[in-house]
Amino acid sequence: MSNKKNNPEIRVKVKDAIELISEIFQAKACSDYEAKTIAERLCGSNLKGHDSHGIVRVPRYVEWMERDWVFPNIESELVIDAGALACLDAKQGFGQVAGERAVDEGIARAKKHGVSVVGLKNSGHLGRIGDWAERAADAGFVSFHFVNVRGSLLVAPFGGTDRRGSTSPLAIGIPSKGKEHIILDMATSTVAEGKVMVAQKGGKPLPQGALIDSLGNLTINPEVMYGKISDDEVPDSENGSGAITAFGLHKGSGINFMMEMLGGALTGSGVSAGIDDKEKRKFANGMLSIYISVEKMVDLDYFSKEVQSYADFVRASPASDKNGKVLIPGDKEIITNNDRLANGLPVAPIVWENIKQTAEKLNVKNLFRFKEAIN
Ligand code: NAD
Repeated sequence: MSNKKNNPEIRVKVKDAIELISEIFQAKACSDYEAKTIAERLCGSNLKGHDSHGIVRVPRYVEWMERDWVFPNIESELVIDAGALACLDAKQGFGQVAGERAVDEGIARAKKHGVSVVGLKNSGHLGRIGDWAERAADAGFVSFHFVNVRGSLLVAPFGGTDRRGSTSPLAIGIPSKGKEHIILDMATSTVAEGKVMVAQKGGKPLPQGALIDSLGNLTINPEVMYGKISDDEVPDSENGSGAITAFGLHKGSGINFMMEMLGGALTGSGVSAGIDDKEKRKFANGMLSIYISVEKMVDLDYFSKEVQSYADFVRASPASDKNGKVLIPGDKEIITNNDRLANGLPVAPIVWENIKQTAEKLNVKNLFRFKEAIN
């Protein structure tokens, strides 16, 4: 087992991963549409290089269903319907489906009013937040997405040593006519929690300073988050006493704090934790999104030209590393996507094995259909 953990060379066909994961969620009573949407969006994260928000999550999602933290086949309810302002309650349904609905609501309202603000509360895991900025950009809208994670305490504030906040992602999307959209998509912690899971499973190691132990020492050892666990155990952050650091010193810590205010308090979803809490809050993503119609704001051709001109100007900066290249937000995801579409998803062997074990427990048949390639 440990040998497999250290071998990062398995490639999985995207088609196989979608098929297997769809069957897992169908076996958990999700509709065919929901199961396929979950599978496609998880694989989409791997394609973009965000393995942390990809198929590694499958056993954890199944476990969350078993704990009643997320329910199948829930339709989000429109709880505020006030022109440019709306709010949806996902009622602990899957974020992959609730996220699509929320973005479509925002686009429809911004088409009418030029701008819209849409809250989404009590959502199951929304996955890679860049997905939602991309969906809006596909329709020609600039969008901002401020997200918190209720019930998930993982991040130490600047100057602190224990968990007081969530990894709270922020995404901003700029549509680009005839070119790839420009998407900034980032956790406001030094790394997303999933990256710690990936490192724990033998994948990419963490960057220096990503974690802090309870004594205040910076480290990259995932054990401080999950304790010592065996290969087939699902990492559980309840079992560690360390924290992920907030990104960008005091300024990043401030942005991380504001995600709780916007995604948590303002949407009505709730912040990650409060001072008087007697028990842990139930896991949910809260997302406050703003959509702006580019064509109602500025001439479209002018906007596209300015966007591309500035993007190229920045990319042309001489690289500090002689083998490197200056990238703008979203470039890395585009490069990774092209490679993985052609060559399959690189997955730590233990991750693929854990998914197959989950499938086996749910009586998914003929698992031999899914053959990974060892490079
Ligand atoms: P990251 O650090 O890999 O990338 C962050 C941003 O930096 C991206 O926009 C990327 O394009 C850009 N970037 C990467 N390398 C670059 C380079 N060399 N030069 C210039 N720009 C570069 O991302 P992350 O912070 O680890 O987040 C990973 C994912 O986790 C995101 O998709 C995020 O939405 C997701 N997330 C989700 C939740 C949730 O609760 N749903 C919570 C936290 C994070």
